[in-house]
Amino acid sequence: MRVRPSGCFGVMVCLLGCSLAGAQAVAVAGLNDEARGKVWWGHVEYLADPAMKGRLTGSADYLKAAAYVVDEFKSFGLKPAGVDGGFYQPVKFDVQRVLADKSSMNLVVDGRSEPLVLGKDAILGSRSAQKGQVNAPLVFIGYGLHLPEAKYDDFDSAEVPAAELKGKIVVYINGGPADLPGPLKSFARTSPFVKALRDAGAVGAISIPTPKSMDFGWQRVASGASQPGMRLAATADGAAVAAKHPALADDHRPLFSATFNPAEAEKLFAGTGHTFAEILTLADAQRPLPRFALGKSVTASVVGESSQVESPNIVAELTGSDPVLEKEYVLVSAHLDHLGVGAPINGKTVYSGAMDDASGVATVLETARIFSQTKSRPKRSILFVIFTAEEKGLLGSRYFAGHPTVPEKAIKADLNLDMFMPIFPLKKLHVQGLEQSTLADDAEKVGAAHTIVIAVDPEPDRNSFIRTDQYSFVQAGIPALAFKFGWTYGSPEYKAWRGWLAQRYHSTDDDLTQPVDLAAAAQFNAFFADLARTVADDPATPHYRDTSFFKRFEAER
Ligand SMILES: [Zn+2]
Repeated sequence: MRVRPSGCFGVMVCLLGCSLAGAQAVAVAGLNDEARGKVWWGHVEYLADPAMKGRLTGSADYLKAAAYVVDEFKSFGLKPAGVDGGFYQPVKFDVQRVLADKSSMNLVVDGRSEPLVLGKDAILGSRSAQKGQVNAPLVFIGYGLHLPEAKYDDFDSAEVPAAELKGKIVVYINGGPADLPGPLKSFARTSPFVKALRDAGAVGAISIPTPKSMDFGWQRVASGASQPGMRLAATADGAAVAAKHPALADDHRPLFSATFNPAEAEKLFAGTGHTFAEILTLADAQRPLPRFALGKSVTASVVGESSQVESPNIVAELTGSDPVLEKEYVLVSAHLDHLGVGAPINGKTVYSGAMDDASGVATVLETARIFSQTKSRPKRSILFVIFTAEEKGLLGSRYFAGHPTVPEKAIKADLNLDMFMPIFPLKKLHVQGLEQSTLADDAEKVGAAHTIVIAVDPEPDRNSFIRTDQYSFVQAGIPALAFKFGWTYGSPEYKAWRGWLAQRYHSTDDDLTQPVDLAAAAQFNAFFADLARTVADDPATPHYRDTSFFKRFEAER
């Protein structure tokens, strides 16, 4: 942890004390944690009601939820900070729905074509534009990581040089060798992956999830395949982001993409002298993996429907009190969209997304309420940003990070919420991005004042770092953190977390009937509002550490 100059430390402690006293004395006079938790849960009850039909990006239901958020922001006296003097920032998307019943995929071995069953053996991807027809040999490239800066490249190895990937479909599994840092492995799953695929002249990719990387069973993975995939529209908006921040842009050129069921993956490895079981054992121990041609081809015919939708981000401002620092912004953010209506699970078809992420939106609203009921405004301005299309690939936040409605360089930090998981008492928080920037010092200081242990993500192979909206800001060079209730392995809390993922994550069971610890949620909300104020009042500007791999994006701002 960076040691602060003593004067600065003194200011921090005072402000922390002031904000605690101010916020809690005014806002929650007479209310205990449980009662404040109920106020927070009231927002979740509205947003995750079955009538809200899962708030799908582009739907009328999403707009209804957005109108609620805007009304709440108005009630807390926040200023509109979207486009054209309003709270909204519209975003356009290209939509692709893959029709599995009209598509086909076959494995060709020794000239014999064996049909694969879509849904059982594999699913076709809907996020990147699919190629209509594909016929290409398969090459296994281990973890599929392209990280020349770490002198590691599965796309150009001694066993399989880059030239041998031209015209091929690469097959890879999740994870990576132990000596690469978790956030770096996660980074390699984003824009560097598609770039490496393009540069090698490959025609597509098949990923095989590993048990460690799967939050739920194959059945739920397969039922998600009917969901529409989205990209930032290829028209002007997407291109503008691409020019300014290539890492935030979508690649619109067609590529074949599929996910293979790990339970069926031995058929890809048969006859190669390797087994999938052997590969999994190595991957589980984070050991290096062999790369080799699989001696088979895939032929596929992919039928899809394309369309366009528009859906807004929501942006509101609390102007800072300091004449200089008010021109700078600290973002507090969460995503409003979820999965809409889909395949029935436990007799329910609405994917309500109560934890994912109505809970985070509710905390952004609670943060606005706490600030509105605190006498002194923070020094920097606070921007309350609610994203659309997170579930489609962090699209709303990528658009906002590339096209902010305030001057880009004025954004100094993002504190993001996505499923912060108040399902057991709050003792510890797992924080994404903690190793990267000086925001860690603020988080640790405020955590100590609230007797909350601040810790790094103990499960980097889940790639949480790149799976929530804070990552869009990392790619734009802005220090960013995201938060989840923490646990220790083997504890009842760990079992509750794993059980939640297995039963409720991206399921119809993430609804209002689930257990929630209201007091713990309220304690988290108090911590979060204090953290936002602490960052906003800190005379020092948050920045990436020299040791952070992601400092490169800050340098490019
Ligand atoms: Zn989600």
